This record gives sequence, C-alpha cells and structure tokens, in this order.
Amino acid sequence: MNTMQLDNQYIARTYARQPVALVRGENATLYDESGKKYIDMGAGIAVNVFGACDAAWREAVTSQLSLLQHASNYYYTQPMAELARLLCEKSGMRRVFFGNSGAEANECAIKVARKYGGGVKDTIVTLENSFHGRTITTLSATGQDAFHRDFGPFTPGFCHVAPGDIAAMREAFSNHKVCGVLVELIQGEGGVRVLDTGYIRAVAALCEEFGALLMVDEVQTGIGRTGRLYCYQNYGILPDVVTSAKGLGGGLPIGACLLGEKVKDVFAPGDHGSTFGGNPVCAAGAVSVLSRMDDALYREVARKHDILVSALSGCAGVLGIEGIGLMLGVRTREDAHALVGSLREQGVLALTAKDRLRFLPPLSITDDELTEALTRVKEVLA
Ligand SMILES: *Cc1c(COP(=O)(O)O)cnc(C)c1O
Repeated sequence: MNTMQLDNQYIARTYARQPVALVRGENATLYDESGKKYIDMGAGIAVNVFGACDAAWREAVTSQLSLLQHASNYYYTQPMAELARLLCEKSGMRRVFFGNSGAEANECAIKVARKYGGGVKDTIVTLENSFHGRTITTLSATGQDAFHRDFGPFTPGFCHVAPGDIAAMREAFSNHKVCGVLVELIQGEGGVRVLDTGYIRAVAALCEEFGALLMVDEVQTGIGRTGRLYCYQNYGILPDVVTSAKGLGGGLPIGACLLGEKVKDVFAPGDHGSTFGGNPVCAAGAVSVLSRMDDALYREVARKHDILVSALSGCAGVLGIEGIGLMLGVRTREDAHALVGSLREQGVLALTAKDRLRFLPPLSITDDELTEALTRVKEVLA
C-alpha cells in the first residue's frame, strides 16, 4: 500500500486531507512523493515560520539533538531557560510555563485564571466564533458550536459573548464572577477576523476595573506573523497572560504560557506540569526562531503583506481581504474549499478558515516564491 492508502486504513478519521503526500522542501517550496512541486502558502498552519529545513534552525536543532534529546522537568536544561529569557525580554511577560501545543498552553492559562480567582471568581469569558483548542476544556472555551457537537458534557465556568460588543462583555462581568477573559486578537479558525483596537482596549479596561486577567491566545497570531513578535504589540496593550505555540518551535512541537507581573508567582511546585514541556531539542529550535525575531524581519513581513494585498485586491474573483501581516483571509466569489483544491492542482498549498481562503506563508517566503504563488492564485480565482 502507498502512503495515502496506509493512512486511510490505519489513521483515525479526524482529518479531511488533501490528496498530497509531502516529502521534503526548501523554504516555501515543497515536493510530494511524485516529485510535484508546490508553493507553500500555509506553513503547516503558521508553524514553519522560516519554511522547510531552514539552515540555521536545522543546525540549532541537530546540535542539541547530538547532546541530549530529553531530560524531564526534574532537572535544568539550558535551551529551555534561554528560551524563557528571550520570550520574557521580547514580550514584557515575567515567567513562562512550557507545554507541547496550543491547547496545552490555553489549559495552563485557564488554570492560572482559576487559581488567581482564588475559588471566589471562577468564570472565564471568551468570544463567539473563537477557537482555543481540542481538549474538552479548551473546547469549552471555544465559542463555535460546530466543534461542540457530540462531545459534551463540557467543563463549566465559561461564558461566550459576541466579539466587538463591549456592552455584552460588561454584562458578562455583572452576571458572573469573572476571573479572566481569553481572546484571540485575530480569530484565525473563525475566518481571519481582526478584532477592533478600541474594543480590545475597552476589554482590557474592564479587566482592570473588575480585577480579572486579560489573557490573549496568540497561538496562531504569534511569532512574527503580524509584523510584531505578538499581535498584542500592535494593539498597545500588555496582557496578563499570553499563550503561544504553532510557530514557536519553527516546526517542532512546543507551546508556552507566558505569565505577566500579576500572575508570575501564581503557581507553586506541584500545581502544573508536563513531561515533554520545554524539551531541549524543541527549545533549541525555538531559541533559533526567537533570536531572529527583529525589526528587519518585521519590516519584511509588512513588505510581503503589501505585495500580497495589492496583488489579491486587483484579482478577479476576490471580494475582500482581511488580516494583518502574513495572516490573511480572502473572501472569494467561488467556494473557498473548491478553490483550495484547484490551487493544489496548480501547485499552491492554501488553507481555508470558515468560508474564506486563508494564507499563512512562511515569513521567509522569497519574492520569487510569492510571485509564483500569486500568478497561480490569480489564474485560479479569475
Ligand atoms: C491552533 C490553535 C490552537 C490549538 O493549538 P494546538 O497546537 O492544535 O493544540 C489554539 N488557539 C488558536 C488561536 C489556534 O489557532
């Protein structure tokens, strides 16, 4: 049996995969088992920040791999400590808890808020149309019914309000004992919906007024994607908790829950843990990624954003574009899911988010790769 047949027979049927078996790549150019070439406009869902097999990243990962692959959290390891320092210095947060995924980072944030609430305040407010992960508790936080079907009962203590509606948020604070608010600044799985700066600042002010934590889910928006390390840095706010994963390891599984001044000492030994959390190989990859998050990179993200937006806005079949940096959602005349199929046939790997076409290319995509992708996109969408 070939890869697709094996997968279809033996892998749990949770994914509607594209009929492509990827083998190797270089930056935003990928190849499948038949040798067919693709331009990668999804980066493994915002994971491969510097594309496939970036030389510096690979060197960092393989050097650590030839020293020690794992140590457990009973011991200190240098890459994890160094990564935490970089994250704190670049974000304004104070301490970090490491896990292995976005869902785990959000689980940690939820535990932080509950402990901070001291058994008195226990409700976490999230937004309708949000996405926070697939564990039962992060599903409970997620404000989309489509993800809830078949999996109840859910974790109590969550309340969902409409994004952009500050009166509804204030009402949630009056009706519940709120210990924290958890929001995405751009709802990624929700269709690449950018939240308004004024609204987010008003939510931050409400959190301040009621002594609740402002927690930002930056799992998809983080790690340079929006032209800053974290998207909240575009909004002029400093959250109390920030969750990060996807792009953090540059392609290896690592998640982080960043703790601000108010909550940096909320946890005591024994309160939380993760066997693989902060694994030295993943952390070494993440250190390499973080050490290249600088103004020069952010300018490149902004420049490539402009190239994408100006090409797409002049493109027949495009009804609208939303997003920041290299996180773009495109409303199209044709069905977005069908377009992803046609694009794949033409050698472009794209994503959808709800009914929109979604582009999350590697931040390092070259101008040539971008031009090639845009040429095909224009042909397919027209
Ligand atoms: C992908 C995503 C998650 C879940 O991350 P996993 O690593 O798949 O657990 C959580 N929040 C947001 C905003 C995401 O985009």
